Amino acid sequence: MQFPENLIQILNAAKRVAVITGAGISQESGVPTFRGEGGLWKQFRAEELATPEAFQRNPVLVWEWYDYRRGICQKAEPNPGHLVLAEMENYFEEFLLITQNVDGLHGRAGNRKILEIHGNIWKARCTVCRKIYENFEVPLIKIPVRCPDCDSIARPHIVWFGENYDTEILWEANEFLSKSDIVLIIGTSGMVQIPVQLTEIAKRNGATTIEINPEKSHLTNIVSFHLEGKSGIILPELFSMIRNRK
Ligand code: NAD
Ligand code: ZN
Repeated sequence: MQFPENLIQILNAAKRVAVITGAGISQESGVPTFRGEGGLWKQFRAEELATPEAFQRNPVLVWEWYDYRRGICQKAEPNPGHLVLAEMENYFEEFLLITQNVDGLHGRAGNRKILEIHGNIWKARCTVCRKIYENFEVPLIKIPVRCPDCDSIARPHIVWFGENYDTEILWEANEFLSKSDIVLIIGTSGMVQIPVQLTEIAKRNGATTIEINPEKSHLTNIVSFHLEGKSGIILPELFSMIRNRK
């Protein structure tokens, strides 16, 4: 891809870089987005299962869906997009990765400074004593999953539709974004409000905002640059341009 010259110059001068990722970055690893192809499970849409009401009504069904998704995530490998973000963390002076993804692929790619604002599919949380713990069983041995401490029903440690975000995590994201030179927003539709709000905060504070997405999204009109294409292709190309200039 031919990148605008001023974009490469801005990236070269950047010291503090933030990245916001959504389901799109993992699409090339074979993890379906909710709204794209392969996003349906049985006849259900994600919006019907990823809610506290759905879990209350039928915890077995919701856990079965997570069991299925955990199977997909376990088989998936980080793709070139994930791997470049891990290199970027070492390259720029300051770096923070804010992800809406729950698949754990950024950690497996090697990123260390990650805020998982929607939680993690490999963690469960007790509905009674609130213990948060890791669980890597695939498939799950017993559904619904039970707390190892008090044997009450546990739930996926995920922020579901209609639930509140962890305020401390959001504060940390805001803090970093409000002083960033660059924000890359990758593979997110912006149907969920938070990435849009975070992008606006960064922009108000003077950051250059760059979207990578093969399609237009709710962010396209807000950002300084929209790079149209798959993140697994665009990110390595973009990063090699920056590195070659130094
Ligand atoms: P989303 O709202 O983040 O939308 C996906 C976006 O990715 C779309 O705009 C699409 O055009 C873009 N995209 C598709 N392929 C791409 C590629 N190769 N490169 C770059 N961009 C690409 O995601 P959603 O699926 O609507 O899900 C909403 C929320 O559900 C997520 O924020 C997440 O919390 C959860 N979710 C997580 C995962 C995961 O962890 N991998 C997967 C599905 C859903
Ligand atoms: Zn418990």
